[in-house]
Amino acid sequence: MIATAEQQKKGMYENVMEQFHKTADTMHLNPNIRKILGITNNEIIVHFPVKMDSGKVEVFTGYRVQHNNALGPYKGGLRYHPTVDVDAAKALAMWMTWKTSLAGLPYGGAKGGIQIDPRNYSMGELERITRRFTYALGENIGPEHDIPAPDVNTNEQTMAWIADTYMSTKNPSERSQNQHVVTGKPVGSGGLEGRDRATGYGVYLTIKLWHESKGETLKGKTFIVQGFGNVGHWVSRFMEQDGAKLIAVQDAHATLFNLEGIDVNDLFEHSKPRKGSIKGFEGAKEMEPEDFFAIPCDVVIPAALGNQITAANAHKINAPLIAEGANGPTDNEGEAILLEKGITIIPDILCNSGGVIGSYFEWLQNRNGELWQLDEVMLKLQKKLTEVFLKVEKMVDEKDVDWRTAAYMLAIARIETAYIQRGIFP
Ligand code: GLU
Repeated sequence: MIATAEQQKKGMYENVMEQFHKTADTMHLNPNIRKILGITNNEIIVHFPVKMDSGKVEVFTGYRVQHNNALGPYKGGLRYHPTVDVDAAKALAMWMTWKTSLAGLPYGGAKGGIQIDPRNYSMGELERITRRFTYALGENIGPEHDIPAPDVNTNEQTMAWIADTYMSTKNPSERSQNQHVVTGKPVGSGGLEGRDRATGYGVYLTIKLWHESKGETLKGKTFIVQGFGNVGHWVSRFMEQDGAKLIAVQDAHATLFNLEGIDVNDLFEHSKPRKGSIKGFEGAKEMEPEDFFAIPCDVVIPAALGNQITAANAHKINAPLIAEGANGPTDNEGEAILLEKGITIIPDILCNSGGVIGSYFEWLQNRNGELWQLDEVMLKLQKKLTEVFLKVEKMVDEKDVDWRTAAYMLAIARIETAYIQRGIFP
């Protein structure tokens, strides 16, 4: 089953720090830059009251951690989940710094959210929680300073509320200049055509490129997906379009399999009225959650939460490729086992970077008062991601390192160069 809240949180920060120091050693990172990148610049914690439907007031705690902004404004999602705390946000913010740097974007890294299970609140309550959180963050976010986006359990509606609240605190004449305070907005409110599928598309594209470099296509390949939210659902659609077969899927409620193939659209239609849950789908059978990762297949796609592939289950994995749709789904012990077995891991900061690249396009669109078309967006995304993928692949070959180390080396080197060129104030 998807790991418990405690298991998901455990060691996320230690994980990312260990990955960072390992790479810093391999690339002989300048020791001053190592000190700077080893800390998070700002850790903002806000407490704010919200009136519930019952008339009672509840106090919530929200977080925004800004890791580094050497390359541009802070960028990264806001998640609503019981696992959100300072350490989780610190780890996720650091991953965002590497992700934006690797993609060559003019951004730094941040992450935040609220420690709640949104299923326990009505739409009206979620709207008031979101708006009050935005108000409490105040000028800690801003279109040229720190730009949130959707993440686990937040979506375009959440972003629309944040944008509206933030813009409402400005002079009417400045309102439209502040629309790009968040990305991932609904298309009718400054959102980008295609931002919804950008992350899933990117995951699919990296899987496809990996196979192409081996002279293979996705036709007839089998894959399993953990998580059927925005990322899991879209990646499955794109894989299916190329002739690959979804044979198992797991979410917080159920683990399903069908070796003949699960129809992605049917599963999506089933989950829609059930708050996204896949439970009860008739086109597949339920199986023991512990056996999910043991299913033999061509690609494993963890697209749910952190710390899912660990020492407890990595040895069971029976696939040549893992594509990290989620952030931090493989912990370091799990990774060591997988690498030992010769399994390739396309790391999160490359694999799921289509989302933040799409966010960058949306930000540019808003900033320049433009409207981009879907085909134009998808083409630009494909071009950008392919370029990044090939760079990482080259590094893997040249330095004879695993994919995560190669991606980290490229990401960290870009920030190191910027610091060395500019020096440290004062
Ligand atoms: N939450 C997404 C991520 O982890 C997107 C971040 C963004 O677009 O700023 O990459």
